[in-house]
Amino acid sequence: MTLFDHPDFAGHETVQAVFDETTGLKAIIAVHSTARGPAAGGCRMWPYASADLALTDALRLSRAMSFKNAMADIPLGGGKAVILGDARSQKTPALFEAFGRAVDGLGGRYWTAEDVGVSPADLAHARRATCFVAGLDGHAAASGDPSPVTAEGVFRGVRLAVRKALGRDLDGVTVALQGVGHVGAYLADKLAAAGAKLIITDVNAETLNLVADRTGARIVAPAEIFDVEADVFAPCALGGAINAQTLPRLKAKVIAGGANNQLASADVGRAVFEAGLLYAPDYVINGGGIINVAGEIRALDAGEAFDPAWVAAKLDRLTETLEEVLDRAAADRRPTHEVADEMAQARIAAAKAQKLAA
Ligand code: NAD
Repeated sequence: MTLFDHPDFAGHETVQAVFDETTGLKAIIAVHSTARGPAAGGCRMWPYASADLALTDALRLSRAMSFKNAMADIPLGGGKAVILGDARSQKTPALFEAFGRAVDGLGGRYWTAEDVGVSPADLAHARRATCFVAGLDGHAAASGDPSPVTAEGVFRGVRLAVRKALGRDLDGVTVALQGVGHVGAYLADKLAAAGAKLIITDVNAETLNLVADRTGARIVAPAEIFDVEADVFAPCALGGAINAQTLPRLKAKVIAGGANNQLASADVGRAVFEAGLLYAPDYVINGGGIINVAGEIRALDAGEAFDPAWVAAKLDRLTETLEEVLDRAAADRRPTHEVADEMAQARIAAAKAQKLAA
């Protein structure tokens, strides 16, 4: 099979296999689209069972970044890098410097950042070889932890979805929150302050108790979160929370949370719609984090300091975009994730056409 016949190849502009003999680096950098600006997306380090699985991940994740960045209305395209290896045992400074050289070889068509298995300390090694790195601390353009911005966007999205689906504000609404890590904990605080009643779960008992103590949330075991009586289900842990097994158990009328890849498949998205639940598409509602990163890339590019006002304006726009998705889906009686995909594709196509015409 060639790359062009791969089921996840979606007109990617560049897919680069990287091998560095000295450090043993094996990586794939996928640039899906630069129509809206340089491709941006994190670098993941994962012990893939095969190079084909790594390629599949890079192709899917880079396309997803194009869609997310387009819906966040930021001047960035979509890309992603994957390093094949075990983040617990195979990291070296030289390996990340070699990765930085590969990123630099793309001449600014791809900006890298943190993702699963890759920390700011690793990125600092990559930074020695390239300036196209976001997510480092200690400089005027630095954007810091994206989680509070992500959580604020998700909070506004939950409030909006509740208004649309239930015709009420958050006061007295019950939210079942799965995962109270970085995003989930900030979201819990905001929801509690708005008068929502919380039912929370996490596999980490320490954070769970901390969040429950300050918000008055009721704690349930991880497996029970799908069965509780709630108005909203907010996935804020790992991907695939909504699947054929969990969907029939949900009592909520709204699914809105911060996690990536909430739907196990597109078919499940259709089943969510047919069951009459309102789903806030994950990559739209959680776009606050990438907006924050875009603020850093913008500042680095211009040699300026990070501008929180730019981020705040984009976050306002993000909630408007989510409303557009929900309204269009309601008017056309279609699943929200399909409408979001279509809007993202249209935005990318329009940028491409504009570039060609220029
Ligand atoms: P995190 O690791 O800080 O939090 C995830 C939490 O989920 C952890 O506390 C973990 O213990 C818990 N968890 C894991 N498995 C669980 C399970 N089966 N049941 C219950 N809890 C479980 O990560 P985060 O930064 O808060 O991100 C959460 C989600 O949001 C991820 O899907 C991430 O990709 C997505 N996201 C995060 C950001 C951001 O700015 N951090 C931006 C966009 C999307």
